Formats: sequence, C-alpha cells, structure tokens
Amino acid sequence: MPTSSPASACRACAITRKQTSASPPSRVSSPPDRRLAISWAANSWSRCGRDFGAMRLARPATACRTKRRTAMDELDVLVIGAGVTGLAAAWWLTREGKSVVVWEAAAQAGGKIGSTQHDGYLTERAASMVLNFRPEVNELLRESGLERAKTARRREAEANRYVLHRGLLQPVPMRLGALLRSPLWSLRGKLRMFAEPLVLTRGGKGESVSAFITRRLGKEVLDKAIEPFIAGTLAADPDQTCAAAALPRLAALERRFGSLTAGVLMSRILGRNSSSGTEVFSFRGGMNTLVEGLLATGRLRLETRHSVQHLARERGGWRVSASTPQGERSVWARQLVLATPAANAARLLLAHDAELARLLQGIEYASVALVHLGFARQVVGHDLNATGFLAPRAESPVLTGNLWASTLFPDRAPAGKVLLTSYLGGARAPQAIDWDDSRLVAETLGHLSPLIKLHGEPEMLRVERQHAALPLYHGAYQARMQALAVRLKALPGLYLEASYREGVSVRDRIVRGHGVARAILAADPPSGAARGGASLARQGA
Ligand SMILES: Cc1cc2nc3c(=O)[nH]c(=O)nc-3n(C[C@H](O)[C@H](O)[C@H](O)COP(=O)(O)OP(=O)(O)OC[C@H]3O[C@@H](n4cnc5c(N)ncnc54)[C@H](O)[C@@H]3O)c2cc1C
Repeated sequence: MPTSSPASACRACAITRKQTSASPPSRVSSPPDRRLAISWAANSWSRCGRDFGAMRLARPATACRTKRRTAMDELDVLVIGAGVTGLAAAWWLTREGKSVVVWEAAAQAGGKIGSTQHDGYLTERAASMVLNFRPEVNELLRESGLERAKTARRREAEANRYVLHRGLLQPVPMRLGALLRSPLWSLRGKLRMFAEPLVLTRGGKGESVSAFITRRLGKEVLDKAIEPFIAGTLAADPDQTCAAAALPRLAALERRFGSLTAGVLMSRILGRNSSSGTEVFSFRGGMNTLVEGLLATGRLRLETRHSVQHLARERGGWRVSASTPQGERSVWARQLVLATPAANAARLLLAHDAELARLLQGIEYASVALVHLGFARQVVGHDLNATGFLAPRAESPVLTGNLWASTLFPDRAPAGKVLLTSYLGGARAPQAIDWDDSRLVAETLGHLSPLIKLHGEPEMLRVERQHAALPLYHGAYQARMQALAVRLKALPGLYLEASYREGVSVRDRIVRGHGVARAILAADPPSGAARGGASLARQGA
C-alpha cells in the first residue's frame, strides 16, 4: 500500500503519457491558456532532473519510467467518470498532492457537457450557463486560469424573464409594483401570495414541490412560476419532486424563519441575500471550455476510452478493471470516486451490495430533446430581450422552455443572426425523445412562430437527444439518499458522487466534487510534502 504520493514524485512522466495518448480531441475551443499547462509541466519535469526542452526528444530515464509504472498501477484515488463532478474532485485531490487518475468510458471528457460549433453557431447539448454564488466555483476558476475565459451574461438577457400565459409571453415580475400589475395572477392569487407569512402549517417529510408551494404561496404561484421552473430547469414533475431536494434554499427559509417572506427579509437585513452575489456566465467557446481548461492545466491525469467493468476489494483498497481499445487494464487505488450516472454505478456495485445497487437503480432519469434553430435577425419580430421563456404545462404539453442563447452570450450566432434553443420532453412528455426530427421541429415552430413573430424559415437547424439526461428527485428521494449513505458506510474507500446527489447544476457538481475531495483528504491526509499543503484536509477534518 503506498504511503506517499507516487505521482507527485514524478508528475512529468504522467504528463508525457497524457500528451501522447490520452488528450481528448478538441471539440470546440482552444483552452484558455495553454501556457499555464506548459509552464507547469516544465516545472514538474525539472523537478525530475530533466530538461523540459528535451521532453519530446528523449525517452525518460529508467528510474523515471519505474516510478511511472508504480504511479499508474497504484494510486491514492481513482476517479471513474470525467463529467464535471469527476474532474472537479480530481482537480482538488491532485492539488492537495494525491496521486489521482480519471478513467472515462467515452472518447473525450465532459460527460453531459458538450459545445458544438457549426455554421458560425455555437450550441450546447446540456449546460449552457453557470449560475454561481459559491466560493468553491470561484476558487476552481481562479486557480485553473479559467476566470479569464468567462463570458458574462449580457445586460439585455438580465432584464427580463418570460413565462407563457394564455398564448402570450408575459414578463415574470421582479418588483412589487410589477407584481401587482401582472396579469399572470388573479387578485385572489396575489392576495394568497401576500398571506404567505400567515401560513402556520408545516409539511411532512418528503413533501412534494407542488404541496410545498401550494401550501405556502397558493396554487397560482405553482402553476405560473414554479411548475414551469421545475419542468424547464430540472425536466422534472413538481407533483413528484421532493421540495427539500429541488428547492433547498426555500425549504431552509421555512425551517429557519417559519415563512419564506420573513426569511427573505431577514436574509436581506442580515446581508445574507445570496442572490446579490449571484453571477451568470459561460465561457468563450462555450461550456466545453470549462472541461478543456481544467485539462489544460496539466494537473489532471485522464485516460479516455477506459470503460470500467469490474471492482474488487483488495488490500483495504479497490482493484478496478476497465476495457480499453488496447485490452483490459487494471489499477489498484486506495480510494475510489464513482462519478457516473446512477445506473452505471448500480451495475458496478451489484456484486458488492445488492441493496445499494437496487437503491441506485431505482433513481429515475428524464430524457430531453433539444432543438437548436438559427434565424436571420430580421425574420424575428420580437425584441428577444430576455434569457428566454418557460412554458407551464397547461400551456404546452411537450415544450418546456426556450433559451435565447444569442441574447444571453456573445458569439453564439453569426452577426445578424439569432440562436434559439428549445427543450422538449422531460418528465412532462417522456414520449418526445422518440419523436423524429421533423416532429420535434414542427412542435417547436408551432409554439415559437406566434410568440416571437417569426416570418421566415430557420437557416440552421440541429436536433439533439439526451437520453437519461437528468436524474429526477422524485418520490421518496431523501429516504433513498439516506439509505444509500448508510449502505456506503460498509464500503470504506468508496465515494459515490454525481448529479443524482445534491443538485444537478454545474455549480452543485463542482461544489460536491470539492466536498468529496475534502472527505477523502480528511479520511486519508496527504503527506506533508504535498504541493499546496493540506488545506482541504484541514477543512474536512
Ligand atoms: C439538456 C440539459 C441542460 C442543462 N442545462 C444546464 C445549465 O444551463 N446549467 C447547469 O448548471 N446545468 C445544466 N445541466 C446539468 C449539467 O449539465 C449536468 O447535471 C452535469 O453536467 C452532470 O455532470 P456529472 O459529472 O455529474 O455527470 P456526467 O456528465 O453524466 O458524467 C458522468 C461520466 O461518467 C462516465 N462513465 C459512466 N460509466 C462509466 C464507466 N463504467 N467507466 C468510465 N466512465 C464512465 C460517462 O461517460 C460520463 O462522462 C443541464 C443538463 C441537461 C441534460
């Protein structure tokens, strides 16, 4: 069992290997600053007593090669899955001096995230933006150099959010005066909303979003604001979604202050209104830049086309086998982070704990179809002065929302064109994922044409299907998560972390990656020589 970090003794060897065999093919962007990776690699190489300039010319000396073999065969941590969760966890663990490798089944890192450039349009197949108020995200971006690649949301997109109401786009009121005038709610609905502080009843454990919002704010708020939000951002059904999991901040306000209104006011008075520190951004080149930027730091050791097939307990750690294009590979790791979707984790864990596998297998996922349409600006009559719109189920049985991507961020469409991305299906209409392209496009245009006053055909059209796109926090979600945590205690050194736990957003995934790294470092602190010290270990202890 290794007691120190073998990789930190000879990081440059791992970099050499990654540069020759494991770099993912670039999908869109150049990394924000390749110089960072090169200078870091140069430093590591010179620590090995080598000249960086000779790196591509000479093979490493035998001593270094031996260390490399050790580093590849025995690790502090193996991360399975190079989605944003796995990459974030690996990034922090490596920073703290752990020897970490990420194995990814696909040909490139990123998981759900993927940006595609075509005909001058930049489309996203999952996350389009990060909505952040967490310091962990800022820290990751600052230290990786990605801060410089950020693109802020445009001012026009900040001003409005629309919701579909009686066949028209109505702005969601953000101030009291606008709320009083808004046609979204009846007078009775508004009075019910204002009566929220007087509601004394408390919901039961596992209360649904619909029950929680109806109890606190009334059914009209559920129908016109929260249902479209849950369907549009989580692809979920609020009647079945656990309120504490999907709306954790609102649930916490009720717990703490007894009322959402009182909670918001108190948070403002105490200066803890997190929305004031909320930032919405993407990256130049799209969300894929987040993935490529992390890889470009040279800190992560990634092996793509490594599909993990088998896990075995061995010497207090885990022996992991993967199928690769070169045949089977196996590695021993003291700790294992399984950062895959729940069904993949269930398959790998079945032989170790059938009940844990059953809990994972029972997590439902929703599929989403995306329709990206590009138009010449002059064929769209609407100002497109918003992030886009959400569509309540009473107004739209299949389409849940439409993102005005070219209003949100620059460089999403060629000059004089606009890019609009629609989301169809989810828990609201599971059948939509099986529709053919022409039916999906017809459904989308049927809604868009009158709403944004279209008088021309799309000049760019792209349909993408995300099967099992998002985990649904449906049913007895919290009880399932608690049972899962109990089962995990019997499998030391195993960490399960992906979007089915504690939030699907990129922000939550980065924060949870940080959390997993902290837990591992607390359980197994790095040696004193580790680069960057053991700051996370101290936080976790
Ligand atoms: C349509 C859509 C829109 C979205 N929009 C936003 C948004 O605007 N903002 C936002 O914050 N979030 C958004 N999200 C959510 C966010 O993109 C995802 O929740 C997040 O990217 C998931 O990351 P992950 O690392 O947990 O999982 P994944 O991205 O699923 O990564 C898991 C990885 O594990 C790998 N893997 C699986 N099995 C194995 C195995 N046996 N061996 C090796 N590797 C394996 C997979 O290949 C994959 O790469 C959106 C999601 C969707 C689907």
